Amino acid sequence: MRARRKMKDRYRKFSFITDIGGMKSAIGELRGKGFPKQPKLNKAYIPVPDDPVFDETWFIDTLKDKLANHSDNGFEYPFYKERIFGEPLVGFIRGDDPLLTEYKTIIGAHHFTPFEIMKWQAEKNGVSVPSASELSVVCFVMPISRKTKDDNAARTDWPSERWAQTRLLGELFSQTMVREMVTYLMDKGVLAISPDVTPMFNKKRYPKVGWASPWSHRHMAYAAGLGTFGMHDFLITEKGCAHRVGSFVVHLKLAPNHKRPKDIHANCLHYQGIDCLKCETRCPVDAITEKDAHDKEKCYQRVAASTKYCNKNYHIFIYGCGLCATGTPCESSIPEELQKNRPLNGVNPTTTLPGISCL
Ligand code: SF4
Ligand code: SF4
Repeated sequence: MRARRKMKDRYRKFSFITDIGGMKSAIGELRGKGFPKQPKLNKAYIPVPDDPVFDETWFIDTLKDKLANHSDNGFEYPFYKERIFGEPLVGFIRGDDPLLTEYKTIIGAHHFTPFEIMKWQAEKNGVSVPSASELSVVCFVMPISRKTKDDNAARTDWPSERWAQTRLLGELFSQTMVREMVTYLMDKGVLAISPDVTPMFNKKRYPKVGWASPWSHRHMAYAAGLGTFGMHDFLITEKGCAHRVGSFVVHLKLAPNHKRPKDIHANCLHYQGIDCLKCETRCPVDAITEKDAHDKEKCYQRVAASTKYCNKNYHIFIYGCGLCATGTPCESSIPEELQKNRPLNGVNPTTTLPGISCL
């Protein structure tokens, strides 16, 4: 991150070959390579009286504190000193929640359960593998800043500069923050792992769901009750759908703190029979339609094409779009019409959850 901070007062030249951090991030996202080594479990750790109690409150407070004070939660030139994300939402899922196993049918057999990813970590550290019921997933939603949302809402073709920086620096920040949490816990003798920064992470195109990764933060956040899916496949939370989501697995029993709506579209106006489809009009390539909802392949092609635009105009190696997540009634909150008497009409989440998209 220090190398990125040097760019604070100017743009890099020839960013297609000089934005090493951006390229490493893209390779990591696609191939699970280039991440720092996993921290080792401190098997000999003896707890001391000053140790924190690793309960729900500790995770919520620690994540909020990191978002508020971490130096990496910040933009590069020309927005230096602005924060990328505001206060997060935090939720928990028990490792033996049946929905996490059902994801193997809904998303695909390649999608990890918390048990599978923790088994890898436990075996690597030479300790016995905890059962699924002893694990929890910690999920967090990081709302994108007001200025970034306004910038993107004003765009009709390609993402704004703040949005593009959020897509790159925000993801790097998220990885750094989770790595710090995981390292701290492992040093205190608590097994923990962030699935998307392990060598087991690689994104592929699958026949059933298109582009998909073996760990979907967005599906984890739905399972934790932090939001439901919109026509655009973004998760509509109480802080809206313009955000980045993260999650990691811990060998601790944490209690879920949000009620999960059975209707996976409970927060989307269109799915609740109220006129909207603002996301459809925001998409520059008709990747969202009333008939077919979100066409992931069309969307992917557009987002991939944005790499050239972001490089040329913003001097960073990243792709992005998010036009359909900004300038919409679900951008910064659950749409007002749905905040009162929210319908929970009992759609079966095991058969209708969308596949993974990552944009
Ligand atoms: S813009 Fe409207 S239709 Fe589209 S996801 Fe948001 S609430 Fe649903
Ligand atoms: S993210 Fe995809 S669906 Fe949304 S506006 Fe961009 S291309 Fe369209």
